[in-house]
Formats: sequence, structure tokens, C-alpha cells
Amino acid sequence: MSIAENIASVQKQIAEYPCQLIAVSKAKPIDMLMEAYQAGIRNFGENKVQELTDKYDAMPKDIKWHMIGHLQRNKVKYIVPFVHLIHAVDSLRLLKEIEKQAKKVDRVVDCLLQIHIAKEETKFGFSEEELFDALNSSEIRKLEYVRVLGLMGMATFTDNDEQVRKEFAYLKQLFDSVKDKPDLPDYVQLQELSMGMSGDFEIALAEGSTMVRIGTTIFGERSSRF
Ligand SMILES: *Cc1c(COP(=O)(O)O)cnc(C)c1O
Repeated sequence: MSIAENIASVQKQIAEYPCQLIAVSKAKPIDMLMEAYQAGIRNFGENKVQELTDKYDAMPKDIKWHMIGHLQRNKVKYIVPFVHLIHAVDSLRLLKEIEKQAKKVDRVVDCLLQIHIAKEETKFGFSEEELFDALNSSEIRKLEYVRVLGLMGMATFTDNDEQVRKEFAYLKQLFDSVKDKPDLPDYVQLQELSMGMSGDFEIALAEGSTMVRIGTTIFGERSSRF
């Protein structure tokens, strides 16, 4: 199947949900991204800063670029001038660095906080307790150049659908309880829940995802080093 056909079939599956498709183009060449662009994709996700900035330079300027991978503080400055949404903010130090760099370019940068929902230790993110500590932190009641628009999570890599469903349901529940929390800092405006990849996006949709991040199903397998 072609990239355009793959996109059409994913779009058909998500059509009945209030959910946005992020095409994850990491490790794929520009000509494949252009194929997706021509098939109507305007939201692309990348997980490495260098690759993201190279592709931003090479691609049409009406694209919304999503940084979906772990972000190091010393690289924030390279993406704040143009990034549409940073999905994987996993510490207050990183959030503060985004504030600092975004202020320099006078731009409000939208972010999601990554929550650790999987069994694997290797995945990044806040625990529930750390999340509430962060939101209650007196140190950062005020951020002027950062908006926290939601939460993001990655489920355990497993064939056990029930396990994955539980993890997504947990994240959705956490999202709802943060949303209903009284006196949230002004910079927190929860509306997006980024969950679901090629292997588990149907489950994520059923559990309330508003953004699915899909690579392999659209562009095919990546070589293993990614
Ligand atoms: C690579 C990646 C995806 C997409 O994975 P696929 O299984 O190829 O759909 C989604 N989210 C993150 C954070 C990723 O790194």
C-alpha cells in the first residue's frame, strides 16, 4: 500500500473520534514526508532535535511540528522558534528551560506533560504523585511563555491488550482529575491527551485519546536503531 492509502485507512479509523492524527516521520526521508504532505498531512512528529530542525527547514512552512521524543534541556533553544507542540515534558527543570528560551523568542510554546504509565522502567515521565507536586509547586505558579495543554503517555509494549487498555484508562482518569482540580496555575489549560501509536491506537481512541502518534502504519517499518 502507498503512504496515501495508509493515511486514508488510518483517517477512516479515527474519523468517528474527536482525535487528531500526528504522522510520526522519524527516520524517514523527505520524499516520504512530502508524499504524506500531499495526501493532506499537516501534523508531523519527530523525536530528535537535529532531525526535526532539518526537516522543518526542508519542508513547506504550513506544517505543524510535534516534538514527541525525550528532550534535553540544552537543545530546547533549537526548537522553540517553530515547534507546534512538545509532547514529552518530563521534569520541571525542562519546563523552566522551555519558559526561558521561549521568552527569548517572545513566543508561547505549547507542551504536554509526559506521564509514566508503562511497566517498563525505560520510559520517561512523571508519576501521579510527581505530577500533582509539580502542579502545586509554589516555585512555578507563573509561566508566561509555556502553556501546558495536556498529558501524554506511552503504554507498555505488549500483546496484552487488556494491560494496554488499563494503562490508557488510568491516564484518561488522571487527565480528568487534573482538569477538575481547583486552582490550577494559569499556564495549565488541559485539553489534549496524546496517547496511541501504531500498535495500540484503536485502544487509545476508545479510552479517550485526542492525539494519536502514528509512524509505522503510515510509513512502514523503521530500521532498528530508531
Ligand atoms: C516512534 C514513536 C511513535 C510512533 O510509533 P509507531 O509504532 O511507529 O507508530 C509514537 N510516539 C513516540 C513517542 C515515538 O517515539
